[in-house]
Amino acid sequence: MNARVLVIEDDPISLRLMSYLLRSAGCLTLTAADGEAGLRVASAERPDLVLCDIQLPKVDGFGVVAAITTDPQLRSIPVVAVTALAMVGDRERIMRAGFSGYVSKPIEPKRFIEQIEAFLSPGSSTQTAATPDSSS
Ligand code: MN
Repeated sequence: MNARVLVIEDDPISLRLMSYLLRSAGCLTLTAADGEAGLRVASAERPDLVLCDIQLPKVDGFGVVAAITTDPQLRSIPVVAVTALAMVGDRERIMRAGFSGYVSKPIEPKRFIEQIEAFLSPGSSTQTAATPDSSS
């Protein structure tokens, strides 16, 4: 995977683990520790994928996905929620909010990379919202 992945996560341990796993899989990583900084990086760098925690300082994950999915320059970028929320209603809310999918915390390394690969591979995402336009 040569993708550029932005990880927005305020928990340093989770951030470090996800960044490490992504780099091990060949991705370039960009990081931000709050939603506001994440949106700045997203606008400046136009990553191939955004991984976004839900509970974040300044702008939460729902705010991040709302901003990205309504920005014509950014809305083709899949945004994947990273969440410890486990209730079915939470998952529905996440998908309704415009996320392309979610991965569960705590991060399971092997499963995490498989899930990320699915979001980055054109056509193989289990959710539909992502338009794969990132290769050019
Ligand atoms: Mn958090």
